[in-house]
Amino acid sequence: MSKTISILPENIANQIAAGEVILRPSSVVKELIENSVDANSKNIQLIIKDSGKTLVQIIDDGIGMSSRDLKLSFQRHATSKIKNFEDLFTLKSKGFRGEALASIASIATIEATSRRKKDEIGKLLKISGSKIELLEDCVCSEGTSISVKNLFYNVPARRNFLKSDNVELRHIIDEFHRVALAHPEICFTFFQNNIELIKLPISSLQKRIINIFSPKIQEKLVPIEEKTSVAKISGFIIKPDFSKKSRGQQFFFVNNRFIKSSFLNHSVVSAFEGLLSDGYFPGYFIFLEIDPKMIDINVHPTKTEIKFEDDQNLFAILKATVKHSLGMFQVLPSIDFDKDPGLDIPYEYVKKSPVEPPIEVNSSFNPFKEENEIEKISRHSWENIYSKFDSKDSAYISEKELKLNLSQPPKVFQLFKKYIITSLRSGLLIINQQRAHQRVLYEKFLKSITNQKTASQELIFPKKIKLSKKEFVLFEEYQKNLNALGFKIKLSGLNLEIKSAPSFFNHDNLEDIITDLFSMIEEGNFNGFSKVDFLSKALSNVASIKPGRILTVKEQQILVDDLFACKEFLTCPFSHQIFVTLSKKELDEKLN
Ligand code: ADP
Ligand code: MG
Repeated sequence: MSKTISILPENIANQIAAGEVILRPSSVVKELIENSVDANSKNIQLIIKDSGKTLVQIIDDGIGMSSRDLKLSFQRHATSKIKNFEDLFTLKSKGFRGEALASIASIATIEATSRRKKDEIGKLLKISGSKIELLEDCVCSEGTSISVKNLFYNVPARRNFLKSDNVELRHIIDEFHRVALAHPEICFTFFQNNIELIKLPISSLQKRIINIFSPKIQEKLVPIEEKTSVAKISGFIIKPDFSKKSRGQQFFFVNNRFIKSSFLNHSVVSAFEGLLSDGYFPGYFIFLEIDPKMIDINVHPTKTEIKFEDDQNLFAILKATVKHSLGMFQVLPSIDFDKDPGLDIPYEYVKKSPVEPPIEVNSSFNPFKEENEIEKISRHSWENIYSKFDSKDSAYISEKELKLNLSQPPKVFQLFKKYIITSLRSGLLIINQQRAHQRVLYEKFLKSITNQKTASQELIFPKKIKLSKKEFVLFEEYQKNLNALGFKIKLSGLNLEIKSAPSFFNHDNLEDIITDLFSMIEEGNFNGFSKVDFLSKALSNVASIKPGRILTVKEQQILVDDLFACKEFLTCPFSHQIFVTLSKKELDEKLN
């Protein structure tokens, strides 16, 4: 390497800066929309082609730019938003670093037109690879239009790194939603490949949330409100019953800027404590107004992370505010000290008088009888469990016991509404009911895919779900796979109608199952699994029996039987242990 220092040419410096700010088409969308918001626009149109890979265009009716400013705006460090460092501490705008347009211009072709109210004629500017190719008068409406074409045309590494159109489109929708939620006072329209995908008229925040997510969210929203010297808090939280398996409905805005903050999230989660089932995330749209002097938004180039000066207090205030609203709207359950949380009795049994237990003798048991197929599978399974015990324990479980276990329903009872305990003569199995059911469902899904014929059941009352735009995009991507799994779904516009569903799980809350499924796909952690496999895992998760569900003895027995008929019954599809064993030997060691 030569030791001579040279200053990087402007366009290379811009390309490097672009590496931090413009990661994918959705970053262009974010930067352009934010500029339009900063320009006091009332109407903002987003137009994209091929998920932004071919075109991202923003048309606004904001203040526009003079010829000089239009030219300058694409230069590095060109900003009208701050003049000196101190301005950062009174900042009201989204931008201030003056590098977005310059970065974009270094990795794409740009066509921009702009006109201020006071100018009769506008200007057209064309830039390619940071070089101005044309600047001339043009007739255009008041405001600014910026088209970004062929993104990353000169950065093949970045271009190759882009995901499928559907994934990129989802990222764009996310960014679009974030700005749109922060600015219900602006009308937003979104076109993809000449089709109007989303239109959001000027409205209240609540209406904006509904327009984005679907009318059914209305009944789930609980308002929050608090004014303190540290922060003003407003917005909505989603009732815990409707929390999701994804973080897709978690929005923090600080001074109307969408931010990610694990520490604020933690504060909300702690307010929801005890109200959420495992694996569920609270939903919220929380707006914080904080004196700009008390925050630092310049910690990250994309400005989605913030440092708070008074984070301890903020944490406590937010938690208290959320808790207060949960209480006010009677979402918190009343505390019942008398209830014994130990043994869980299904409702239908509560008032029944006890029945004498049947004597457990299996009269048809014949040790010489040939096993049928099912028994063989089960036996194989039970032998495996058996080998999980310490080998010195072998003597404690006899062959006979295994057979007995097969020929009659297992003895079971439920604990803490989430574990099923079953006994072998040699000890106990403590089974996590949800994980067991996930395993059972997962194997059934896999079987229905490989067998090509699925156990599908027509619904007497087809279930209807209204999709959000984002869910719609997800659905299109997964429709084929869902069919393969035994769903028959009709789509007209955004209305989805489930006509058939796989027969081996409960259809009572199919709507929730499908919405939860979308959430999981949205989170999309494939870890190298195929789409169908991912879908089977996700479905087994959302359709599984949750902790907190009280099961009848019969249900518990079926679950235990089904589990041990599985090929893999030690772990759930997400590789968590399904049960623990407690052998007689271990008990003897402790208690004898
Ligand atoms: P920043 O937003 O950080 O100032 P940008 O590179 O995004 O930097 O934009 C540079 C400048 O161009 C802005 O400060 C603004 O003056 C001007 N500008 C960009 N987009 C618009 C727009 N849609 N309407 C009016 N002015 C704009
Ligand atoms: Mg900007």
